[in-house]
Amino acid sequence: MNYYDRSLDALMHAYGRYNVTFDHGDGIHLYDVNQKEYIDFFSGIGVNSFGYNYPAYVEAMEKQLHRLMHISNYFNTVETIEAAECVKKATKLDKVFFTNSGAESTEGALKLARKYYYQKHGKADSEIISLNHSFHGRTTGSVKLTGNAHYQEAFGPLIEGVKYANINDLESVKALISEKTAAIIVEPVQGEGGVYVCTKEFLTGLRILCDEKDIALILDEVQCGMGRTGTIMTYFQYDILPDILCLAKGIGAGFPMGAFVANKKFAAAMEPGDHGSTYGGNPMAGQACRTVFKILEETKMLDHVQDISEYLIEKLDDLKDKYSCIKERRGLGLMIGLEFDRPVKDIVQTCLDNGLIVVMAGANVIRMLPPFITTEKDVDQAIAILDQAIEKNI
Ligand SMILES: *Cc1c(COP(=O)(O)O)cnc(C)c1O
Repeated sequence: MNYYDRSLDALMHAYGRYNVTFDHGDGIHLYDVNQKEYIDFFSGIGVNSFGYNYPAYVEAMEKQLHRLMHISNYFNTVETIEAAECVKKATKLDKVFFTNSGAESTEGALKLARKYYYQKHGKADSEIISLNHSFHGRTTGSVKLTGNAHYQEAFGPLIEGVKYANINDLESVKALISEKTAAIIVEPVQGEGGVYVCTKEFLTGLRILCDEKDIALILDEVQCGMGRTGTIMTYFQYDILPDILCLAKGIGAGFPMGAFVANKKFAAAMEPGDHGSTYGGNPMAGQACRTVFKILEETKMLDHVQDISEYLIEKLDDLKDKYSCIKERRGLGLMIGLEFDRPVKDIVQTCLDNGLIVVMAGANVIRMLPPFITTEKDVDQAIAILDQAIEKNI
């Protein structure tokens, strides 16, 4: 059997996987088992910010592997304390809880907001407002926050009390607010839903609304955070702070990790015994996280993210001018969507065949999440492959 058939045989069929089996990566390139080279403009869903085999990251993790991998949260390690201090400083929030994934971060944020409400009202009947086309994870709590009925249908009964408003429609949020509203959860840039960017008016409006009503503003920056959009957190481009923040993906840059982070007011609701995770923030994860912050700071990589984003956007807008089937280019920093007037499946497949990894976000949108180390030359090569793939499939 070939690798693809073996994967179908042994792995549960929960993903529509591409027929490619990777062997290793270096820089922004991936190599499959036949040593064919691919430009990776997807970064493992926006995780591998530094591409593959980034020397400072590999060195730090290698050393940690020898020293200490895991001890549980009954004890401290310097790595995890320093990682939390890095997150505190970067987010301008106060307390950090480390998780292993994005879904656990949104679950944790949900529990924290509910606990705050419970302490305030003395009853556990809170409601949460989320957005249509949002994505917050796949567990039975986080999938309910995810505004996509298709992901929920077969798995009920899910948690109660979640309502869905529309992105960039403040009135639609206001219409759902009640005495029971404990939190509003929003991705500043919706990732899986098709790369839709919140307007400044919308996010600042939510901030004011949450302040007025003492509701937790939860920002899910699992995909758009950690420098992906050109600032360490996307909300700094909106001049607001969340009450609770969800992180994952880029926070470990390849090591499975996440966090939810809160300001003093909401963090105070959490008491010993309320929440836990065996692995969450173990010393390997702590080392990954603090190393990510160290690299970002020492290399001033986010300046480069902003520059290379401008270059990429310019090239994509040229493509948009060239092909009338491209309806819109959206996104911030290195989180970009290209919406077509038709399904993009074949274009994405041709790109893959020709050595460029991009993926879909919804049937008509091509999504790109290139590594932060992408150069102008890489962009030129990627655009040439994309150009050919569009040409071939329209
Ligand atoms: C990926 C993602 C999640 C879920 O993260 P997992 O690590 O897959 O559980 C949650 N929220 C957003 C915005 C995401 O992009």
